[in-house]
Amino acid sequence: MSGGTRIITVANQKGGVGKTTTAINLATALAAIGERVLIVDIDPQGNASTGLGVDRRDRERSSYDVLTGDSSLEDAVVETAVPGLSIVPSTLDLLGLEMEIAAAPDRVLRLRNALRNQSPNAYTYILIDCPPSLNLLTLNSMAAADSVLVPLQCEFFALEGLSQLLQTVDQVRGSINPALTIQGIVMTMFDGRNNLANQVVEDVRANMGDTVYQTVIPRNVRVSEAPSHGKPAILYDLKSTGSQAYLQLASEVIRRERRLKAA
Ligand code: ADP
Ligand code: MG
Repeated sequence: MSGGTRIITVANQKGGVGKTTTAINLATALAAIGERVLIVDIDPQGNASTGLGVDRRDRERSSYDVLTGDSSLEDAVVETAVPGLSIVPSTLDLLGLEMEIAAAPDRVLRLRNALRNQSPNAYTYILIDCPPSLNLLTLNSMAAADSVLVPLQCEFFALEGLSQLLQTVDQVRGSINPALTIQGIVMTMFDGRNNLANQVVEDVRANMGDTVYQTVIPRNVRVSEAPSHGKPAILYDLKSTGSQAYLQLASEVIRRERRLKAA
């Protein structure tokens, strides 16, 4: 994509697996090392926007307006309390978008075109926080992205649904975005006291090999408390095990992106 910008979409059609938490904390970790980072919130629930302290009143323009073409990306960007991290917030308007643009020939390319029209190099990383669905919004993100980052919750049904997600990535690659790759799979909400959780991580590694990051995100109460303070966990409690894990994940992501970019 434009200049040196890397676009990563955080996707999984299951809800509650850690997409938003991962998008927010990965973005914060990247911003903390001096990257210029933008989150594009395309979940109508707007949890990334709320979790970064963007009040609903400050969402005058949103990802909905960007996708309908009523706003440029730049005009919809809001600064967050995290230096170097901006966000295009979302609103519930997004719920109606699919119907509204269903007949438009460029319906899957709305986000890609909006991102291409922004000034090159304004951001070094753009992370997209997807809704829990393989709908038109998620397809827009896959059409726009360089890579897909998949959070999987450490639970019995972790792998269920993954093949459908990977099939969708294949379809997008085979049609509108041949360069799309899988950034990686991150296991989330790991509880080491639970034997099942260990088994799940082993199973996923056995199935998906190196696609799975070495870093496993632990279940950590500080991570779950942070959004209610409008802060990423990394700002709320840097020393927490969850924050430390997200910092580690960021370095893995950066290493992979450098490799992907060079390829
Ligand atoms: P998604 O965006 O996939 O729906 P979220 O990131 O919103 O998932 O996470 C779902 C819930 O789990 C949220 O309440 C979040 O605060 C909590 N959560 C996510 N990751 C962790 C973690 N590592 N430890 C504890 N709670 C977590
Ligand atoms: Mg979410």
